[in-house]
Amino acid sequence: MLRVLLVEDEPAIADTLVYALETECFEVTHVLTGTDALAAFARQPFDLVVLDIGLPDMTGLDVCRHLRASHSVPILFLTARDAEMDRILGLELGGDDYVTKPFSPREIVARVRAILRRANPPSGLEPAGSPSRAAPTTPPLFQHDAAAMRIHCHGTPLDLTAHEYKLLLVLLAKPGRVFTRDQLLDQAWEDPGAVTDRTIDAHIKSIRAKIRGTHPGAEEAIQTRRGLGYLLSEI
Ligand code: CA
Repeated sequence: MLRVLLVEDEPAIADTLVYALETECFEVTHVLTGTDALAAFARQPFDLVVLDIGLPDMTGLDVCRHLRASHSVPILFLTARDAEMDRILGLELGGDDYVTKPFSPREIVARVRAILRRANPPSGLEPAGSPSRAAPTTPPLFQHDAAAMRIHCHGTPLDLTAHEYKLLLVLLAKPGRVFTRDQLLDQAWEDPGAVTDRTIDAHIKSIRAKIRGTHPGAEEAIQTRRGLGYLLSEI
């Protein structure tokens, strides 16, 4: 589970964000001051910091400077004024981002996911079976050829469109994890706003058909969780 440190002194905003992030399966630690943020960070690592600029004891920019002295953790800044935005943009942002208040929790969650995706781009899948284990008895159902950007099913390349390929890759990267349609859109589409949830359903249907055409029965590896989303069963 990815860990987010939320540094925000306004309880109403903090509560909304904690709820939104936890709903999306992030583990959230919430602190109200810059001092507490640095103390929390000293205790344990975080994957991302959501950092309010206007804090009671120091500015978010000060907190950022302290963190940056020893960590490269991505930071999403929350700012109330355009003037603050200028100062944030003066920083070398790198993998960071900012949003101006007021914002929707959904927007924050989308930004958090986007930053983490940039920070940890999906890598090629490792073949099943670790080197330390005895020779595997059966090949894994799916193999990813990262160089050729192709996914093979039982050794046969699947003829996927670009979006089908990216979509299946997201599922393959985390077997057993349920992805909501929103999550799949965010991860497999450059511009998720331009498409709808139904787009995901249509693409999943097409991927299943192509897998079935290659290896009948294998398409059942992609499972539907009604009302939730899709997952790849453990393979
Ligand atoms: Ca504040």
